[in-house]
Amino acid sequence: MSSLEKNLMEALKLQKEIFGDDLFILKEEKEKKIPEHEIKTSEKIEKDLNKSLFQEDFQKAETLDELDSLINTCTKCDLSKSRTKFIFGVGNPQARAMLIGEAPGADEDKQGEPFVGRAGKLLNDILKAIDLTRDDVFIANILKCRPPGNRDPLPSEMETCMPYLYKQIELINPKIILCLGRVAANGLLNKKLSLSALRGNVYELNGIKVVVTYHPAALLRNPGWKKGCWEDVKKFKKLYDELN
Ligand code: URA
Repeated sequence: MSSLEKNLMEALKLQKEIFGDDLFILKEEKEKKIPEHEIKTSEKIEKDLNKSLFQEDFQKAETLDELDSLINTCTKCDLSKSRTKFIFGVGNPQARAMLIGEAPGADEDKQGEPFVGRAGKLLNDILKAIDLTRDDVFIANILKCRPPGNRDPLPSEMETCMPYLYKQIELINPKIILCLGRVAANGLLNKKLSLSALRGNVYELNGIKVVVTYHPAALLRNPGWKKGCWEDVKKFKKLYDELN
């Protein structure tokens, strides 16, 4: 038997072992047209599969503590190089309301907690004015690390960091969110509007009500805006009270 015949025999034997007596002809299989609906199904499965294959570990977190420990060593953007602390957020994990700011400042970067500087003290007063404390809510920022010199977050930084906030929202499952400032509101609502266009409306994000007001740091610079903030937070509190 020539070596060609020997190879052919071995290939056929192998084929018989795998496919039995049906001769597998690649050409015929290739020419068989796959029905349209089957292609869609397989594409969907592929999509779902890709999603789970490439899903990052933090997406699987079941508690805020677990999420924190999975993301607080993040090095996805350059802010990780200059940060002192990763600011995950603070408050009641079962809060019905979340407050969302822009990014940690110098005091927050040092202490590891959002809104602990002068703006934070004003935020505590705002909460007190509507009969709430920091323990009633959960406070987080769009960015978890401080932008150097307190510059505005870059769009790329926001895009990179937002999935962490979305996961926090998913785990806390708040019924209402108060956005503090234009950057936080545009980031969360995926808009590019001025603060005056954003304020006064009640948005809805996956069934969660969203109210927008001034950033406390802006109120420190412009005390005249506190009256408008008071109107916003009164509306927020009314919606909050109506939740029950
Ligand atoms: N400003 C913010 O937007 N967030 C903080 O945590 C502190 C200041």
